Amino acid sequence: MADSLVDYHCHLDLYPDFENIIEECEKNQIHTLAVTTTPKAFPRNYELISKKKYIRAALGLHPQLVASRANEIEIWKEYFDETRFIGEIGLDAGTQYYKSFELQKAVFKTILDSCANSGRKILSIHSVRSAPIVLEMLERSSVLRKNKVVLHWFSGEASNLQKAVGLGCYFSINSEMMKNPRSQELIKKIPLERMLTETDGPFTSIGQLPMRPVNVSNTIEMLATALDRESDFITERVLLNLKEMES
Ligand code: MN
Repeated sequence: MADSLVDYHCHLDLYPDFENIIEECEKNQIHTLAVTTTPKAFPRNYELISKKKYIRAALGLHPQLVASRANEIEIWKEYFDETRFIGEIGLDAGTQYYKSFELQKAVFKTILDSCANSGRKILSIHSVRSAPIVLEMLERSSVLRKNKVVLHWFSGEASNLQKAVGLGCYFSINSEMMKNPRSQELIKKIPLERMLTETDGPFTSIGQLPMRPVNVSNTIEMLATALDRESDFITERVLLNLKEMES
């Protein structure tokens, strides 16, 4: 039987058929990290997902929402002990969100400090136009000593990537990254043993439709082509990486 696939960053609760997509992941054995954008969304995710075999419910506070929801960090703290999985979190210095950047840093620091003190957490991190600062904050918080970090949709410079590899970060790669020549070059510099796959659905599409976790097979194909490897080899490698990271 074929190895199961990995979608390590997907917003299951943002699809109109949330409950159905959960069953789809289970039936197709897609190891899925269900990230949330606000801690208020966590309880419902946890309720529907915590007993599932292939899906993990992550507790997040998305940097793009910090401008309006920074106070929800208090709710985030309340749920912190209930899950090992933290995300979507991070920083976004894009023009639309730059105004809240200082506040984003404060929220992100609180989250990193909580994780550094706890240990055994796995973090899915957004770093749009802010890779150097994200890496500096990871380093300063010493969160990586006892936790694992996955940089989702990484788009920093090659030097930032090198630093992230040195720090022990993993990378979840999606098909949009593969469509971008610059990102594709960057992906080739990621060590195979640090690669994971993701869809970031429903924010990515396949044809006219939002990508779903089952479509991560498409990401695998593209990654295999870019790396000049067999897709079975990539599938196996990613699954092994997931097991090592979560062990
Ligand atoms: Mn996302």
